[in-house]
Amino acid sequence: MTTHEIDIEAIRSRISVPHLLDRFGIKYRHNRCACPVHKGDNKQAFSFTDEVYFCHTNGCKGDIFSLYSALANKDFKESVLDLANLCGLSVNSYRPTATVANMRVMVESPRRKVEREWDERIYFAKLEQECLLAIQRKVKREIKDDATAQLYSRFHSLDTQIDALDAEIQGMRWKKKEAVEKVPKF
Ligand SMILES: [Zn+2]
Repeated sequence: MTTHEIDIEAIRSRISVPHLLDRFGIKYRHNRCACPVHKGDNKQAFSFTDEVYFCHTNGCKGDIFSLYSALANKDFKESVLDLANLCGLSVNSYRPTATVANMRVMVESPRRKVEREWDERIYFAKLEQECLLAIQRKVKREIKDDATAQLYSRFHSLDTQIDALDAEIQGMRWKKKEAVEKVPKF
């Protein structure tokens, strides 16, 4: 599986933060509403653009993927797949039909299966990192216009998350190697 199979920028260009709020029946005014992520009641706390959101009460922040994940209570991977489906992008290359999946399990060696499962975890961690990097680029542009302490702290907390994912991905590569070696060859 390669990162080309799910085009997150294509999803991003089709689904916006207000789209998702509408879909979940969340009312807003002038791009402000109560924070649906931590479920606050201050109607001014949550502000958003088409691409990103930020909550002034608890600092909830992110993009369509993290928003969907919070509203639908799904993990990052499920959220990407759901949103791809929602905007009509085919994810068939990723999710084979039942028959094809069964055939694949039959012909796939146990070693290959372990390898593929780890590759999928690594793939989604990288995708999550790409999303955070895109948000960070946006924050960086905002800082150019308006260098507030709040924006700087958003930038740095994104940095921390991105670094943590780096470490996680590195760890997954090691775990994959270990797991694959444990599986008997035949
Ligand atoms: Zn919040």
